[in-house]
Amino acid sequence: MPDDIRETLLARQREIDARSAELTAPPDSTGGISFGKRVGDGTSLAVERLTQVAEHEQLLAQSEQITRALAKLDDGSYGVCDACGTAIPEGRLEIHPWAILCVPCATDT
Ligand SMILES: [Zn+2]
Repeated sequence: MPDDIRETLLARQREIDARSAELTAPPDSTGGISFGKRVGDGTSLAVERLTQVAEHEQLLAQSEQITRALAKLDDGSYGVCDACGTAIPEGRLEIHPWAILCVPCATDT
């Protein structure tokens, strides 16, 4: 059972790494982005870029949680809230196997 969780976490982390590499890849240089010609295009590109940055930040945050959850598996504290020490409900762990905080603590921050 713990090995399954580890596998799930590692698989999710690989997904995050792959997606994160896509997001941080240098912009496609074919054609190039010319600023100043069509303001509308530049603006939507900027918005898209911001969305990507936000997604990337979320991925990084989740990746950190996964790293922490894996460490918790190793030290035997997996399933216990990092902040208050309460057991994290199984239902929550099924949906978010990388959860390292109980619901009240997670919504607090
Ligand atoms: Zn807690």
